[in-house]
Amino acid sequence: MKVAPRILEVLPYRPERVDAAGRHFDATMRRIQAGEFAVAVPPEPGICGECDLRTLCRAEGVIQEEAG
Ligand code: SF4
Repeated sequence: MKVAPRILEVLPYRPERVDAAGRHFDATMRRIQAGEFAVAVPPEPGICGECDLRTLCRAEGVIQEEAG
């Protein structure tokens, strides 16, 4: 029987990073709740190419046809 290799990455626990991530999340949620959805700068095309919203973004001109 062949067993798949286990992949495990151990990250150091850094409380200051956890706190910063929580603040970033809270700020992002406040912006979403305020209706701020505009994409000021689209991410690189590879990211859009994997996104389920790319058809909508193309239709609205947020990204160009070749992006994704
Ligand atoms: S397709 Fe639109 S929503 Fe998706 S990553 Fe690109 S810009 Fe963002």
